[in-house]
Amino acid sequence: MSEVFNVEEIFGQNVFTLGKMKERLPKNVYKEVVKVMDQGGELSMEAANVVAMAMKEWAVENGATHYTHWFQPLTGITAEKHDSFVAHPDEMGKMLTEFSGKELIKGEPDASSFPSGGLRATFEARGYTAWDITSPAFLKESGCGVTLCIPTAFCSYTGEALDKKTPLLRSMEALSEQALRIVRLFGNTEATKVTASVGPEQEYFLVDEKLYRQRTDLMFAGRTLFGAPAPKGQEMEDHYFGVIRERVGAYMKDLNEELWKLGVTAKTQHNEVAPAQHELAPIYETANIAVDHNQLVMEAMKRVAVHHGMRCLLHEKPYAGVNGSGKHNNWSITTDNGVNLLDPGDTPNENIQFLLVLACILKAVDTHADLLRQSASDVGNDHRLGANEAPPAVISVFLGEQLEDVVRQLIETGAATSVKEGGKLLTGVKTLPDFQKDATDRNRTSPFAFTGNKFEFRMVGSADSIASPNTTLNAIVAEAFCEAADRLEKADDLDLAVHDLIKEYLTEHQRIIFNGDGYSDEWLAEAEKRGLPNIKSMIEAASTITTDKAVKLFERFGIFTKVELESREEIIYETYAKTINIEALAMIDMAGKQIIPAVVKYSKALADTVNTVKAAGADTSVQAELLKEVCENLAAMQTALAKLKKVEAEASAIEDVKKQAFFYKDTVKAVMDELRAPADRLEMIVDKEIWPIPTYGELMFEI
Ligand code: ADP
Ligand code: MG
Repeated sequence: MSEVFNVEEIFGQNVFTLGKMKERLPKNVYKEVVKVMDQGGELSMEAANVVAMAMKEWAVENGATHYTHWFQPLTGITAEKHDSFVAHPDEMGKMLTEFSGKELIKGEPDASSFPSGGLRATFEARGYTAWDITSPAFLKESGCGVTLCIPTAFCSYTGEALDKKTPLLRSMEALSEQALRIVRLFGNTEATKVTASVGPEQEYFLVDEKLYRQRTDLMFAGRTLFGAPAPKGQEMEDHYFGVIRERVGAYMKDLNEELWKLGVTAKTQHNEVAPAQHELAPIYETANIAVDHNQLVMEAMKRVAVHHGMRCLLHEKPYAGVNGSGKHNNWSITTDNGVNLLDPGDTPNENIQFLLVLACILKAVDTHADLLRQSASDVGNDHRLGANEAPPAVISVFLGEQLEDVVRQLIETGAATSVKEGGKLLTGVKTLPDFQKDATDRNRTSPFAFTGNKFEFRMVGSADSIASPNTTLNAIVAEAFCEAADRLEKADDLDLAVHDLIKEYLTEHQRIIFNGDGYSDEWLAEAEKRGLPNIKSMIEAASTITTDKAVKLFERFGIFTKVELESREEIIYETYAKTINIEALAMIDMAGKQIIPAVVKYSKALADTVNTVKAAGADTSVQAELLKEVCENLAAMQTALAKLKKVEAEASAIEDVKKQAFFYKDTVKAVMDELRAPADRLEMIVDKEIWPIPTYGELMFEI
């Protein structure tokens, strides 16, 4: 039996929690910290010094040697630069560790090599990190030993956000402010804050490390660029929720332990649809902490895999032909006196505040469907959204039977007098209890589904940060709340005005509601008729963030300036071009150095056999036929390889970054497909002993 641990004891062990602060800080300092956490503002330097001292003591007691400001640049992952606690020794050679308040609250990493989209010229390399006091500091255990990590925001010398956290925090404030106006209308004077909560379900693949190392594509691109389908894929539907294999189970156990220590509430684990695909979901929490924690989850998934002789693939589409990975982003909004604004109660038709909130969200999603779609795009996700996979690139909202019926009544008559009940589900077995049914079934094909007391945004990619989708969601809903409040606060008869506004919003934006099969072709045709945007790729979605509509939205609530948005658009093109460039180069490498030489070897063996057989006077037709097929595909590969080299060089020479990105999408990717097709055909013919790279069957089933 492996080592036993107590979940309650280890949970949060590596986090400088509020509890630890209460224990270790003088009362007045602790109070100041809590006040800044709740109400914002700045910690005084005296208080910061005391907190820093306590934090360092705790960290050093737990083996920490270094600290780092941990931040989330526009790469979509996290960044850290470690400083040790080591200070100048005195003349006797004795060293006392150091960590001041100043070092805690502010850092100045030389930031010239992070993507900035032209926001910061390299000669103006200054970037600043500032402690996000609402997200607790934690200890990371890694190959480097133990490091104290301080979650921070990252800005340029001139104050522009260079990260994903700053706009998220700004959007949370905007949403809180506008949502408070709504609840005030309904007499809630107690609430002082409204918080967005997020629970991201993380999908991932595992692959054996030895096999991974033999695949240049996995190592450099995170996905396979060649590979014929395995005899078995996911068609038996036997992997989903299947028994977890021993090796994977041992991995999950260590992963959970590490996450619990970090205060991440890892809750659910199961096998997913594709072979070697799995999922982990934590319990939902405040949006910015959920974003931080999701980064920690992704990091830990990769780190722990290595300890188990495996690699974790977070790419949205590691293997063609089987399910890809996403990240369902569950989102809700709650007042600090405990009201979830998305909770319809048992009689949603009577819950006017809920109906107003719902109408505002439908309006927000319809008005900014383009932005929402953009917020869920990254290079890997292009293989899911808009490709032949779920969910579609068209945004629509699933409400379920009960709510859709309420909305229909409101649109038709201005009032909803009845509500469909869930009723009883009869099991038909005497010894089994009958269930109280939910009023609404689930719908797995909707990109934006109401699921009882939250919305589930299902477009997000598995490798992506969830900061952008949540920033966008918060922003668009804040805008709708603001516009509703502007009108309602002025109304003479509030009841009547609310009633009219709900009816108006629902009528105007009902086209966004769709309860059917989101994967069907009929829906795409229908969506087009309804005028809903269907943006097929990441780079086509990029310009949605700099339209007048988007700039107005984000500037109005102080979430992004126009300059920040323009820089982000540029980074999208850059990231796209660089990623496809790496993929193309990896293909050129594998085709030229591994696959073609192997096929040449095989064709020589075949040709030799033809000669030997012929000399013996026997029939050579089988060998000759095989040889012909091999040579034809080999020629096709060689032609496509030459073409890929040519277009890749052309692409690299394009200076305008937007043009370059589109050239990669429209031209380079097409040639990559031309190169892959004959290679995958050859894989099915060539002797297994000679084929130079592990197959799909090995990658997905040898775990
Ligand atoms: P499923 O796969 O059945 O949709 P999971 O249990 O895998 O459900 O994940 C659901 C996620 O939604 C969890 O992270 C959960 O904590 C989160 N969640 C539940 N209630 C809320 C809520 N009110 N607001 C935000 N997230 C929530
Ligand atoms: Mg799930």
